[in-house]
Amino acid sequence: MTRPGKLFVISGPSGAGKSTVIARLLKRLNTVYFSISATTREPRRGERDKIDYLFMSEAEFQNMVKNDQLLEYAEYVGHYYGTPAQPVAEKRKAGYDVILDIESAGARQVMEKIPEAIGIFLFPGSFKVLEERLRLRSTDSEEKIKQRLIKARSECRSIKMYDYIIINDRVETAAEEAAAIITAEKCRTSERIHLLKEEC
Ligand code: 5GP
Repeated sequence: MTRPGKLFVISGPSGAGKSTVIARLLKRLNTVYFSISATTREPRRGERDKIDYLFMSEAEFQNMVKNDQLLEYAEYVGHYYGTPAQPVAEKRKAGYDVILDIESAGARQVMEKIPEAIGIFLFPGSFKVLEERLRLRSTDSEEKIKQRLIKARSECRSIKMYDYIIINDRVETAAEEAAAIITAEKCRTSERIHLLKEEC
């Protein structure tokens, strides 16, 4: 029987480089599935529906909430974001490790529902770097950038809830560290002992 995959929750301030690090990570590990979130925010330039996010109206989102289709959800700087529950459960059942890229209120909900979930906090290096990245992205208004920076500081207060911290000074190193965490978690005695039933 296939063993269920693990659940990894990656959080960190918006602009910390989570999407880039996760994209590199997915190239390194082919047993990992990235959970595509539902959101009510507008797509940024280059973002594709059903690949980067499931972009939807607020009514559609509320319908998913009402029908209990989300593993977690939260409001972030004026928009809703949530994790569709079914694909996560299905992929894990099929043996894939699943990665969620979610903010800290959602992460807390997941950790409460699924205590074995592994939390990774990705920090951008410094708040100065974060501010530069958010401005460089130049998709948000000044007001939204300010709100994201305030949110980033408040997210740091939840940092102790995570099992690991990655400081994203260099994307390649951050992706390497994330891959190392996933690999190490899969080598845990509790994960491997069944393979040695006959031997030990
Ligand atoms: P962005 O608008 O920059 O793509 O995302 C804003 C924040 O929402 C990021 O911190 C991102 O991790 C978080 N986020 C993305 N998808 C989800 C989700 O499904 N649930 C929750 N709670 N947060 C999410």
